[in-house]
Amino acid sequence: MNNTDTPSTEKSSLTKDELWGKCLLYIKDRIQEQAFQTWFDGIVATTLNEEGITLQVPNQFHYEWLESKYRHLIDNALKEYAEFPMLVNYSVVISEKSIDEIPTLTPKEKPIPRGYQRKSQLNSRYTFENFIEGKSNQFAKAASTSVADTPGQTPYNPLLIYSSPGLGKTHLLQAIGNKIIKQNRNMRVVYLTSEKFMLDFISSIQKNRSTEFTSNYRNVDMLLLDDAQFFQSKEQTQEQFFHLFNDLFQKGKQIVLTTDRHPGELKGLKDRLVSRFQSGLIVDIQPPDLETRIAILMKKAEDDGLEIPYDVTEFIASAIKGDIRAMEGAMVKLLALSSLRREDITMNLAQQVLKNLLGDNSFADITIDQIIKYVCREMKISERQLLGKSRTMEVALARQLAMYLSKELTNASLANIGSHIGSRDHSTVIHACKNIDKKALAESDFQRKIENIKNEISGLKISNIEKGNI
Ligand code: ADP
Ligand code: MG
Repeated sequence: MNNTDTPSTEKSSLTKDELWGKCLLYIKDRIQEQAFQTWFDGIVATTLNEEGITLQVPNQFHYEWLESKYRHLIDNALKEYAEFPMLVNYSVVISEKSIDEIPTLTPKEKPIPRGYQRKSQLNSRYTFENFIEGKSNQFAKAASTSVADTPGQTPYNPLLIYSSPGLGKTHLLQAIGNKIIKQNRNMRVVYLTSEKFMLDFISSIQKNRSTEFTSNYRNVDMLLLDDAQFFQSKEQTQEQFFHLFNDLFQKGKQIVLTTDRHPGELKGLKDRLVSRFQSGLIVDIQPPDLETRIAILMKKAEDDGLEIPYDVTEFIASAIKGDIRAMEGAMVKLLALSSLRREDITMNLAQQVLKNLLGDNSFADITIDQIIKYVCREMKISERQLLGKSRTMEVALARQLAMYLSKELTNASLANIGSHIGSRDHSTVIHACKNIDKKALAESDFQRKIENIKNEISGLKISNIEKGNI
């Protein structure tokens, strides 16, 4: 085998360490110091042979991150210094320390007080198992799992998760805590909101017990702090937290934080605190796509033993886009109304609930028929063609565009859109939407055309509302 430090071929005169060392310098010059430390510091090359180079990474998540964000840079570095094209392989090292050996106060030294886990404020309802993964949250979930598996040992300390409300930050934070105490009940995990942190701090000052307050939190092995944006403008609390943070960090304890926006955009936080927040790994959660929203609702219904017709689930998921909490809230309202009125859960009932929640205007949406008219005019084909069976490229594209816009701009279900536009089923509509997305990404002209139609349609919507036509 060729995995030695000596040159693997006559062509290449660098050892694996020399080659990778040069690559690291190349990469270091091109990314921010912070990113370099998190992702490249400590990564070594374990083998180098004719086929390529193998890099050792601390876990699966690290590998995925390098592949998705830095692959290009690594390839370029190798092109620069290696004398033949190289494949990059990864090997994941299993940490030598098992979770039981993670530095922690041993039970002998300090008995875990009874009821401590209760005090940790964890809610067992939030787990990784019931957190549905989609494109919008997969990195946040992977990073969280990684931290839960090897707390304090990954380069992701602190881990900071940010997103707008209702997208699963608290869920992930709690899932980390729950997983850890399941693996090792001696771990002192504390979950708290920054508001609670501040209230505890204030009450300790009132009672002249601020030393107790400090030591309470300094004894933990993992600190999960939710909604840190609440610290904005609370200078004394920030100060306290800053010291706690440093103390825990120096002891190698894991810290996980959430905020409602990127820490760089938080106002009223001291620079040195923001720079601590940014010193580990920052991941965001984006609003989930329709399929993920449907999956979340279905999972929730399944967990709660509820039978909700598929079209109702899809209807709710289509109507409420940016906030999972609101979506779940709509489902709970629907259940409440159905049991109150002793009525089955039907589309009709679901429409009433959503009208109530979102207001009438959300239903002032354009109809699929109006979209069809617009698309036909814009694409210069007849309605008969669009609704018919023709497969010519032009007509097929117009049909797909009509499906796409109907999904984007109306509350109609996929099935409903499909049956309206040429008796297709919902999978055809999904396929059409993907196609249009792809085309819009590739062709800016096409993207502009879509934007134009959307704008015109929005104009129509407003004039409809003004005229009281809805
Ligand atoms: P945030 O803290 O970001 O405001 P939460 O974690 O409180 O949001 O999430 C709001 C609700 O949505 C919770 O009931 C949570 O369980 C649920 N939720 C969010 N994301 C997911 C997901 N990916 N899978 C399942 N449930 C989710
Ligand atoms: Mg939250």
